[in-house]
Amino acid sequence: MYHPMKKYLFLTILCAVLLAPLNAFADGMQRERTRMVRDQLQARGISHRATLEAMRTVPRHLYVPGAQRRFAYDDRPLAIGYGQTISQPFIVGYMTELVNPRDNHKVLEIGTGSGYQAAVLGEIVDQVYTIEIIRELGTQARQRLESQYDNVHVKIADGYYGWEEHAPFDAIVVTAAAEHIPPPLIDQLKEGGKMIIPVGSPFQTQQLMLVEKKEDGELTTRGLMPVRFVPFERGE
Ligand code: SAH
Repeated sequence: MYHPMKKYLFLTILCAVLLAPLNAFADGMQRERTRMVRDQLQARGISHRATLEAMRTVPRHLYVPGAQRRFAYDDRPLAIGYGQTISQPFIVGYMTELVNPRDNHKVLEIGTGSGYQAAVLGEIVDQVYTIEIIRELGTQARQRLESQYDNVHVKIADGYYGWEEHAPFDAIVVTAAAEHIPPPLIDQLKEGGKMIIPVGSPFQTQQLMLVEKKEDGELTTRGLMPVRFVPFERGE
């Protein structure tokens, strides 16, 4: 028997079927991302499921300048302008996994850059607060992120002081190399929280450090591996 609702159901299904290839076309990079996650992350021991899933989802090529897009899924960092870089995918995955992000977490990132790391975190946690010191980069990243995520907030400032009004944070991810761990960031880390930060002289190899604040407030720090990050700049 003919039923008018059937017609709508049929049309909806027809549209979905016809538009599916268009969807795939809009982001023809899914295969690259799947491969990046398998060969660069899982093959090197990253197993945190939410991190892998987030990096399969975020279109990394949309976070790099046009001329670099074809290299977006390569195993290396890329220039994003103003002398800054977007980290190699493995480093993004490694840092994300190490702070053990969960869906009820509030995370602070210092060094928004392209916004890619913030987007990866935004896929996983409840709220992301990210700070960038270079106005132009912060503005671009804010536009990019705000069109995709309502849980990622960008501030243009010197991240040395953290983001007091939203503290304490379950995790803090610093993506520029500091000569020492900024004390305000330690203060803004929740008890039981983790911070990952490259520490060392600018333009030399630094140590990626994992800082944990125990439930009793005691701090432990552990050097993980040598890395090279752009320097942590200081505001006026
Ligand atoms: N997480 C970024 C990587 C950016 S590179 C990404 O996913 O693309 C590091 C960034 O830290 C640069 O954009 C640099 O301008 C920024 N930065 C350096 N010192 C800073 C500071 N004191 N406060 C905030 N951002 C800073």
